[in-house]
Amino acid sequence: MPQRPYIVGNWKMHGTRAMLSEARAIDRAAQRHMKVEVALAPPYTLIHPVHREAEQIGVGAQDCHHEDGGAHTGDISAAMVADAGAKFVILGHSERRQNHAESDEIVRAKAEAALSAGLRIILCCGESEETRAAGDAVAFVKEQLKASLPADHAVLTNGSANAPERVTIAYEPIWAIGTGNTATVEDIAEMHGEIRALLIELFGEEEGPEIRILYGGSVKPENASQILSTAEVGGALVGGASLTADSLMGIALAAAEADEA
Ligand code: PEP
Repeated sequence: MPQRPYIVGNWKMHGTRAMLSEARAIDRAAQRHMKVEVALAPPYTLIHPVHREAEQIGVGAQDCHHEDGGAHTGDISAAMVADAGAKFVILGHSERRQNHAESDEIVRAKAEAALSAGLRIILCCGESEETRAAGDAVAFVKEQLKASLPADHAVLTNGSANAPERVTIAYEPIWAIGTGNTATVEDIAEMHGEIRALLIELFGEEEGPEIRILYGGSVKPENASQILSTAEVGGALVGGASLTADSLMGIALAAAEADEA
């Protein structure tokens, strides 16, 4: 059965307890849009408070460490974010890959740790402006995804639920994140089609078509309809426009309409 469109807000390093009223407003609005799955990834410090407020939305983390525990000052494990109330974790975001030198191997280890801790994962991939200009975007993204996803199916499904429930992919061209530039609908359709083909290759004909592929990169209420109506776009990972209930739910509404069309 096709999954609902998935709209995920990534608050990045924004938000103190003063933002809880916004999370509450997002949650209340999400209760009126049940045809769309809405989720928020606040900073670590707000995971538990948002979890306590949330009746409808999913709450997740923006990252986790790949080890269960140990001498890692300032780091947080998958079990810790799960204990705080997170149900999913975003992994391999380009800001982590670039600013924290996260390799595909580290992202894969984090994915294994998160899945083993019972979390769902949103695995990010995306090319730089230079890679796209060189005509290598598709090959780069497919390689990045293959190297970042756990190879063992049993790890991906944690022995119980199936892969489409546990794994979501987010295609986020780096040059579109926080810049106001979005990829063209043609480029999004091409990349999502290629990612879909790879997922079918990796997960098979039953699960491969069901794994959601989100688009991320300057999605806003104004451009959401066009992006979310594009083939193989199963939702959006939203940064800047997720900071207010009005804009995030504007995107969720566009997702509901695109799904019905
Ligand atoms: C993101 O960081 O995942 C993102 C898509 O940000 P923005 O929507 O601000 O481009």
